[in-house]
This record gives sequence, C-alpha cells and structure tokens, in this order.
Amino acid sequence: MVILFYRMKKDSYKKLGDAIKKSKRITIVTHMNPDGDAMGSSLALSLYLQKLNKEVKVIVPNAFPQFLEWLPESKKTMNFQLNEKKVKTYVSKCDLIFVLDFNNFKRIEKLGEFLSETPIPKFMIDHHQQPEDLAKYYLHDVKACSTCELVYDLMKGMGHAKMIDKKIAECLYTGLMTDTGSFRFSSVTYKTHLILAELLKTGMVPSDIHSAIYDTYSRDRMKLLGLALNKMHILPDNKTAYIALSESDLKTFNYQKGDTEGMVNYPFSIKGINFCALFTEWDGIIKISFRSKGKLDVNKFARANFSGGGHINAAGGKSNLSLEETVEKFVGLVSSKKK
Ligand code: 5GP
Ligand code: MN
Repeated sequence: MVILFYRMKKDSYKKLGDAIKKSKRITIVTHMNPDGDAMGSSLALSLYLQKLNKEVKVIVPNAFPQFLEWLPESKKTMNFQLNEKKVKTYVSKCDLIFVLDFNNFKRIEKLGEFLSETPIPKFMIDHHQQPEDLAKYYLHDVKACSTCELVYDLMKGMGHAKMIDKKIAECLYTGLMTDTGSFRFSSVTYKTHLILAELLKTGMVPSDIHSAIYDTYSRDRMKLLGLALNKMHILPDNKTAYIALSESDLKTFNYQKGDTEGMVNYPFSIKGINFCALFTEWDGIIKISFRSKGKLDVNKFARANFSGGGHINAAGGKSNLSLEETVEKFVGLVSSKKK
C-alpha cells in the first residue's frame, strides 16, 4: 500500500528510542548498489548502536563499490547475494530491522521479498519520495539532504550527540558529501552546514574523505568518462542531455562497479541544461540515472516510465528493452514533453 502523504513521516524520538532500547539484536539493511549515503548511514548507525551495546549486522543486497571500502567496518557487512543463507539466519533471530536510504522492498528485490514476510518490526530512516507503508517506526523526511542527516538527527534527538566520534563522523560526512554532490545541490541547507560543523569537531578531516572517494579513479575509469562525454547527446529544445553506454563500451574499459558514479551530472556544466540521463547496459538490463534542476520532477518521470523512483532532482530506473529502444523511448518522451 502506498500512503498518500509523504512529505514527512516521523515518530517522536521517545518512541524511536524505546524501540531501540528494547531491542538486543539488530539488522540494518540498505539499498541495492549501495552508494555513499547508503553505506555511510548504515555504518554510522551500526557504530552508534554498538556503543549502546547492541549486537548489529549491516546487510547489503549486493556489493558496494571499492571506493567505499575504507569506511569503518565496511568489511564486516554481509552481502546477501553471496551469503543468502547466513543473512536469513541472522535476520530471523533479530528484534528490529532498520531500513536505510530506501523505502520500498521492491528496491532490494529478493531480499525485500524475504524481509516483507518476516514479522520483525521495521524502522525506516529515509529521505526518498513516496515511502511504502512497510515499517512500524519512521524517521522519514524528503527535505533531508541525505539519510546521514537523519541518522545524525536520530542520535541528537536521543540526546546522544556526544557519542558521535571520529569514525561515526567520517561515515556521516561521506553520505552528506556524496548525496549533495559535494554540497552543491539544492538540498543543501543551513542545517547541513551546522551538522558538518559538529562533525568536524570530532577531528575528522574533510579533505581526506573527499580524496578517499573522488581521487581514486583508475585510468580506465577516466577513459570511460572521456568516451561518455564524447557520446553525449544534447536535445537543445528540451534542455536535455543524455549519455548511453553499451556493455561493450564498459567492457572496453574494464568496467568495475561504481565506475559510472557521478557521470550523469557532467552535462549540467553546459549552460541551459536542466535534465540529464545516463543509460548503462549490463547483463542485458539497462540501468538509468536521471538528474534534473529546479521543479522538473524526475522521481515522477522515472516512476511513470522506467519502473524507478528516487527524489525530485535525482532518480533512477531500469528498462528491459534494448539500449537503442530505451534511448528511443526516452527521446520520444522528452520530445513530447511528457515529463
Ligand atoms: P542513481 O541514479 O544514483 O542510481 O540513483 C539516484 C536516486 O534514485 C538514488 O537516491 C536512488 O536511491 C534512487 N534510485 C535509483 N534507481 C532506482 C530504482 O530503480 N527504483 C527506485 N525506486 N529508486 C531508484
Ligand atoms: Mn540517500
């Protein structure tokens, strides 16, 4: 069931705190193809809950990119795709399941089917549009720039801001930085910067985090970016730019998970562009990233046309058509302005 009001769904910190207090064994689950916010928020929450003497496991539906491996305790996470049995055994014996940085079990495919069938209470912390009614406890706000912002709110709301140490701060900073395109998207507010200031008090070094995430390109990744920019198409009448990369393009440059991260944003540097799309073909499926500026709602666009969703200005989707047919469909939709 999809609930109608979705601007904010938030229980009191008292209720949220009580749910945590009475749980001993906790699972944290995040979305497919985990990004900086998914990993940062999950690991920060895990470190915090461990300080409260909880037994915690972070589950990822599939592998996360190499450039996030430096995150504290990332190696302790369990990959559902590789350890289905172990994950199911752990989850079955836990008291509470946190659902972080996503809000619809379809988003995590087979793991979602399993979780939706367990009676264990779920606790959603998320900032995407249109949350499914899947949880008992909610800390949901589409105005939050990242799930990391909400994890910070949770700790502060529980009166535990002082428990945020350097490691937790590094995790939170990662999500705040990656989900805001290094603090330049319209989701950034004065509150984002107040949180950053608090995180910096722990001694964490922002430039180290930036380097660890962004200055790690392989030569192949950089060359793939060159190819992508060369292949970029512009629809000037629609203020739109798109890039389509075939499986063979990716293979030419020895594609590794995460190599196309951030690529979708490059065409925004062209004056006037307010809608960008990136199509990547892998294993016969076309994964799509949409980005927009201003009021153009790519969450709606992705939901209506490409079985996806996300935020107003950043969303994703997929297509079972061929790469060419998918691009054709997209160009047709954009040209007819059905956004
Ligand atoms: P990205 O383009 O970076 O993969 O995703 C952009 C945003 O849209 C992220 O917040 C991500 O969680 C969301 N998103 C990406 N793909 C999908 C999808 O297939 N379904 C839904 N509901 N959200 C998606
Ligand atoms: Mn996020």
